[in-house]
Amino acid sequence: MQPYQFTKSQALLERSARVIPGGIYGHQTPAVLVPGSYPYFFAHGQGAHVWDVDGNEYIDYICSYGPIVLGHRHPKVEEAALAQMRQGNCFNGPTERWAELAEHLVGITPFADWTVFAKNGSDVCTWALEVAREHTGRRKVVMAKGAYHGTHAWCTPMPAGTTPEDRANVLTFAYNDPADLRRVVETHDGEVAAIIVAPFRHDAFHDQELPVEGFHQSVRQLCDDKGIVFVLDDVRAGFRLHLGGSGEYFGVRPDLSCYCKAIANGYPLSACAGRDALRRAAQRVFFTGSYFTSGVPMAAALACLRELEACGGIEHMRHVGTLLQRGLEEQARSHGLRVTVSGPPALPFMSFRDDPGFERNKLFGATCALHGVYVHPHHNWFLSAAHTEADIRRTLEVTDLAFRAVRERFA
Ligand code: PMP
Repeated sequence: MQPYQFTKSQALLERSARVIPGGIYGHQTPAVLVPGSYPYFFAHGQGAHVWDVDGNEYIDYICSYGPIVLGHRHPKVEEAALAQMRQGNCFNGPTERWAELAEHLVGITPFADWTVFAKNGSDVCTWALEVAREHTGRRKVVMAKGAYHGTHAWCTPMPAGTTPEDRANVLTFAYNDPADLRRVVETHDGEVAAIIVAPFRHDAFHDQELPVEGFHQSVRQLCDDKGIVFVLDDVRAGFRLHLGGSGEYFGVRPDLSCYCKAIANGYPLSACAGRDALRRAAQRVFFTGSYFTSGVPMAAALACLRELEACGGIEHMRHVGTLLQRGLEEQARSHGLRVTVSGPPALPFMSFRDDPGFERNKLFGATCALHGVYVHPHHNWFLSAAHTEADIRRTLEVTDLAFRAVRERFA
C-alpha cells in the first residue's frame, strides 16, 4: 500500500499563507499535526469517510472536531437544511425553527426550562458565565486547570493579545479533586458566581479522565451550598453520550449547559440551556450576533437531534467506539507496546506510556493518516453514527501498520 501524497494540500497551504496569516489558523492549523503526513484541505465527505484535495480517502475519527455526529452529508439533515434554504436562511428576525428547536431542546433536556442560540462554543460558555454573574451579583468564576472553554480572553490557552486583567476573576482547581475545588471556593467565599466544568476531562495533550465517583455530585452540592451557578461545558461531548446532555450520562444536573459541536451535524449553531431560576438574568445579559437567528442551522439541528434518537446513534457510537478501543488495546499488547486508551468510547483517545513529548503518538497518527485513517496525535477522537464495524476492521488493519512503525522506530 503506497502512502498518500499531499501535493495539492501543500500548495493550497502556501497559497493561503500569502493572504491568510498562518495559512490555516486555530485548532485546524497544520502546526499541531505532523508536517508532510496529514492533509490540510478537504474536498468532500460521505458518512464516516472524508476525501482530501489530493483525492486521498480517510476513515474520519475527528469528525470536524466533533460536529459530524451522524456522518458527513447525512441525507435527513441535508434535506431539512435544503428545505429551509429554499425559504431563506437569514432574515430580520428568526424563523419558526427558533421556537421549534428551543421546544425540542427543552423537551429532551431534563433540567432545562429555556434555551438560547448562538454560533460557537466560546459564545455560549462566555455568556453562561455572564448570566451567572448577573444572577449572583458576584464576579469570580472557577474552571479546571488546563480545561478548554474556547478562544475568549478569559480562557484562551494562547494568551497572546490578552491582558492579565482579562483573567483577574478566573480561579482554577484540579479536575476530579473536590477538596481542591472546595478550598478554592472557600478562599473566595461569597465571591464565586459560577463553576464551569466539562463532563469529563478531555484536555489536549493529556489522557482523558472520566469523572471520579461523586465528582460532579460534589460540584452540585457545593454550588447549592454556596449559591453558585453550575455551568456544564458540554460543547465537545454533548449529544455523543446522552440525548439529554452529558450530565444525564454522569448522573448530575447543572444549572446551565453549553452545547455546540454535535448539535446540527456540521451546521453552525451553539446553544445554552438553563433553569427557570436563571431566566431573568438570561434576559438581561445582552446576547446577539449577525447570524444567531439563521434558520438553516436550526432546521439542520432539529433533523440531527431527531435522527440521532430515531437511529439509536448514541448507542451505536458507544458500540463501534468500544470495538475500536478494545481493538487498539489488544493490538498494542500483541506488539508489546504499552498504551493508555482513555475516554468514553464515543470520544476515545490513545496515548503511548512514557511518551511525554507525544513522539510515539505523532508517528502513530502520521502512519495512520498516510494510509487512510484520520486520528489526532494529541486531541481526543470522535466516533459518528455512520462508522460501521467494517470501518473499524479496516481501521485496525491500518493501526497495525502504525503500531509496527512505532515498535520499529522506538524499539
Ligand atoms: N468548550 C469545549 C469543551 C470545546 O471543546 C470547545 C471547542 N473545541 C469550546 C468550548 C469552544 O467552542 P468553539 O470552538 O465552537 O468556540
